[in-house]
Amino acid sequence: MTMPLYVQGAWFAGALLFIFGLKGMSSPASARRGIVIAGYGMLIAIAATFLIPGLQNLGLMALALIIGGAAAWISGQKVKMTDMPQMVAIYNGMGGGAAAAIAAVEFAKGDAHGVATTVLAVVGALIGAVSFTGSCVAWAKLQGVLKKAYRLPAQNAVNVILALVSIGLGAAMVVLAPARPELIYGFFIVALVLGLIVTLPIGGADMPVVISLFNAFTGLAVGFEGYVLGNPALIIAGIVVGAAGTLLTQLMAKAMNRPISNILFTPMTGGAASGEAISGTMKEVGAIDAAAMMRYASKVIIIPGYGMAVAHAQHKVWEMTSILEEAGVEVKFAIHPVAGRMPGHMNVLLAEAGVPYDKIFDLEEINGEFAQADVALVIGANDVVNPTARTDKSSPIYGMPILNADMAQSVIVIKRGKGTGYSGVENALFYTDNCRMLYGDAQPMAGEIIQHLKAMG
Ligand code: NDP
Repeated sequence: MTMPLYVQGAWFAGALLFIFGLKGMSSPASARRGIVIAGYGMLIAIAATFLIPGLQNLGLMALALIIGGAAAWISGQKVKMTDMPQMVAIYNGMGGGAAAAIAAVEFAKGDAHGVATTVLAVVGALIGAVSFTGSCVAWAKLQGVLKKAYRLPAQNAVNVILALVSIGLGAAMVVLAPARPELIYGFFIVALVLGLIVTLPIGGADMPVVISLFNAFTGLAVGFEGYVLGNPALIIAGIVVGAAGTLLTQLMAKAMNRPISNILFTPMTGGAASGEAISGTMKEVGAIDAAAMMRYASKVIIIPGYGMAVAHAQHKVWEMTSILEEAGVEVKFAIHPVAGRMPGHMNVLLAEAGVPYDKIFDLEEINGEFAQADVALVIGANDVVNPTARTDKSSPIYGMPILNADMAQSVIVIKRGKGTGYSGVENALFYTDNCRMLYGDAQPMAGEIIQHLKAMG
């Protein structure tokens, strides 16, 4: 069916807004505006869809919109920052599932005409179905519903066989188009099982990378189904999501120093392989001494990590920074690309607390400055400052680029106790001569430092 010009025009306008929205998301300063712009794009694209002449099931479509919109609105209001990765996972899964469902309807109606369209519909359906069940597993793991990594004997061989069977069934659907219902059912069942089987063995630590990968897949699936439906808004949105997801996946894998194939097919050993033994002792410091070390420093670099997020300490950290700056201390924030539990985790928290963007530096920008810093304050971070990543080949985090906190004159580490980080690896930094441990929850500890700083005037 040829779409009326006003529908096509509205879809095109929606697609343009997606692109402008994404552009806005390239900087924390404009990210909020970018999200809103992309949201308007989505609104226009959905409204235009309702204007397609001769559309049936309008009531059902409206009902789906109301249920989906309400669920998203309520969960969006309630979600905690630390639960954001699983929310992204489940919404992404819905996108993949929707793409697969569109393809299923087209196959059932026998509406995918021509070899090229059928091939794209099959590929989109396969990717969408895998992303749907895979993302559901990712959600369950991050939410703590699924606590174990289930690994089959000969897991990789099973993955390959299932992938080949689903590709074979998909090829049969192209050759035998319009395909019989049994073939369509068989194809979707195998594709859905493939998503489950591939994702179940992957450990929680690698999940955000996997979510990002599924996000890229979902984008592709949506783009392909957009082609099948002749909907340019879907095509452009899909391509934008696919490209952005692919880049993000590559960046995260690089920052964790793990090839994507390794994340998908090799289980992470975690604490079981915790590398070489570390000599030395951890030396404690009190909040008053920590405050004095920073108050009389020229330059302090703060390294936030997952613990700062858990403790919601970002506001206190910013208050502490302001007091130090008023006292003439230069303070900068060093952000590791995988600090926390999701990409941009620390940037979001610091922005929420009001830390200006020009005080926040990426690993490459700041690593050369640690040698001139009097104090590196590590607050709830662990793996991202572990020097064993540079030297210990037996360590699971060997090769991961780290922030050079150990090169500062003195290091202060705020954490609750002797807990390891996400990787389960002991941290050699904590045992070095220039490092002092300030034990406690990050928020009250930052509060104590603030009190002492105020008392010092
Ligand atoms: P880590 O997970 O390495 O360490 C966090 C530290 O915070 C722990 O050692 C813990 O020690 C401490 N902590 C926990 N709660 C508190 C609290 N309330 N107050 C003070 N300290 C606290 O965090 P990093 O940010 O350094 O590293 C992130 C890790 O997560 C990396 O291994 C990364 O690869 C991984 N990862 C990151 C992803 C991302 O996208 N950002 C995605 C997937 C994995 P204690 O218990 O003693 O307090």
